[in-house]
Amino acid sequence: MITANARATFGPGEPFKATTIARRDLGPHDVLIEIKYCGICHSDIHHARGEWRAEEYPLVPGHEIAGIVAAVGTEVTKFVVGDRVGVGCMVDSCGECENCRKGEEQYCLKGNTLTYGDVDKYGQRTQGGYSTHIVVTEDFVLRIPDGIELDVAAPLLCAGITTYSPLRHWGAGPGKKVAVVGLGGLGHMAVKLAHAMGAEVTVLSQSLKKKDDGLRLGADHYYATRDPETFEKLAGSFDLIINTVSAKIDIDAYISLLALDGTLVNVGAPAEPLSLNVFSLLGQRRSFAGSMIGGIRETQEMLDFCARHHIAPEIEVISADKIDEAYERVLASDVRYRFVIDISTMETV
Ligand code: NAP
Ligand code: ZN
Repeated sequence: MITANARATFGPGEPFKATTIARRDLGPHDVLIEIKYCGICHSDIHHARGEWRAEEYPLVPGHEIAGIVAAVGTEVTKFVVGDRVGVGCMVDSCGECENCRKGEEQYCLKGNTLTYGDVDKYGQRTQGGYSTHIVVTEDFVLRIPDGIELDVAAPLLCAGITTYSPLRHWGAGPGKKVAVVGLGGLGHMAVKLAHAMGAEVTVLSQSLKKKDDGLRLGADHYYATRDPETFEKLAGSFDLIINTVSAKIDIDAYISLLALDGTLVNVGAPAEPLSLNVFSLLGQRRSFAGSMIGGIRETQEMLDFCARHHIAPEIEVISADKIDEAYERVLASDVRYRFVIDISTMETV
């Protein structure tokens, strides 16, 4: 067993405390990663607070992991000690079902293994990246391209791929009008990526207070959704809307902004169900869809795309004792635009 220092919450909404966790000894295909940085995703907050389901505690969240390979198992072929690597929301899947064979491990028909809050094939509870080390099978380890620093690489492993995948799937590109709802961690990546793909990008934020940032990040237009005129003005305009909001919103109002054959993709995952009036879809043959992270092959493609286009998230690096404060700020939409934990501040328990 390998002992890692970590920060865990011991119950829904309980403050984070220093602890140690055990990582398995390296199997032949395993990679030991010394974690350098870990992003704070809003999903960590949903999990830590038990908003989606009853969780088991202590819980160590974190699925935006960037670090350095510290050791490899005897049969590892893809990585060597010293490589710069990342791990996202999944650490394993069956590898055999139709979806895994297509490279869509996030939709594994037998259920993939989440990076934390799950049970792996060895029967051990998984714990995430708010920790100094992690052991992951090499097929779920990503290579961080040269030119992307590890601190900014971390958020790409979830916020990056979760927005890249639907933008690609629904064909964001030249001639397409894309709206991004919510300018937080996912939203700001969606703006950068959609802009780099050549789409015309509009931000729909609650207020105009981040307008300068939004335009600087690559948006062509920026509107406040608290202003009812926004919905009148933009009715029927977009080919694709990516909704990144972590709370329940009036979906019908946003669907009314879609053009003929437009699609609203929900990547935001609020705890409460959303309601939908089907008449919002019928009139203009519109679609309402969902999308979850992305497969391993596509995650590598996204990392390489970001390196090629010089795309990096905007981050605020924090020490491990500031996780609770960061959670409060994310909940208050006061994040510009991703908190990233400097794991070196976790070295002593
Ligand atoms: P975040 O940084 O907190 O961003 C969410 C943004 O939504 C906020 O910055 C805010 O933007 C807007 N917002 C928040 N509360 C709102 C409200 N009551 N009404 C309207 N707008 C509101 O969160 P994130 O890390 O980007 O994650 C967003 C959501 O995606 C979470 O639910 C998370 O669990 C989910 N997620 C899903 C996947 C997936 O695979 N589908 C992956 C990762 C995360 P403005 O201030 O601009 O309005
Ligand atoms: Zn996430």
